[in-house]
Amino acid sequence: MSSIRRCIHGRTKKKTNNPPRDQAHSTHETLSHRNEEGHPNETIGKTKPDSTAIAKILFPIAGHDRKSYKAGTPGEFGHRRTKVRKHAGCDIYAAAGTPIRAVENGTVLFTHAFYYRTDEVTVDHGGYIVRYGEVDPESINVKIGDKVKRGQVIANVGQLITPSGEKYKQCMLHFEMYSSSTPIKNAMLTNDSKPYCRRSDLINPTATLDAADD
Ligand SMILES: [Zn+2]
Repeated sequence: MSSIRRCIHGRTKKKTNNPPRDQAHSTHETLSHRNEEGHPNETIGKTKPDSTAIAKILFPIAGHDRKSYKAGTPGEFGHRRTKVRKHAGCDIYAAAGTPIRAVENGTVLFTHAFYYRTDEVTVDHGGYIVRYGEVDPESINVKIGDKVKRGQVIANVGQLITPSGEKYKQCMLHFEMYSSSTPIKNAMLTNDSKPYCRRSDLINPTATLDAADD
């Protein structure tokens, strides 16, 4: 499993020599290191390297044409963002204020600041995690620990605003998936691991989104 994971993600076994920045980060590094080494881990061991094994989800935005995250577009998973960082999710373009639906039943793990004055809602959907990113902070209507139902509106698409105050014309739901439920509360999803700067069980959500129910 471990070697397959590395192949799929196009990266080689990494060393985590850098000292942790804080306690939460330290907890995460321990977790991801174990995954990379392939040590027995009941949760990780049952997961798949891509998203195809995940049950059919509900598409998070009703009536979407599903083109904005296709291969070759800036919204695709793995699109190069900087010299060293690749896009960690799929961008589902939609107007600010568009309702976002939970793709499956689940439990809310995190709600907090994400990117350019937007927030994230991160949900454990039972064996996998979805990070619903770039949502309107004012629109979030769930809190940590809440149970959500498939199809329940959890937030709206947010307005990206740069540090200089510029409003992005194109708003979106930034959709990330992780192949295991977090075995440690508050284990960081974002970290310094190149090329995605994410936890090691990050997966490509494209196939799951393509197959999702309307
Ligand atoms: Zn994105």
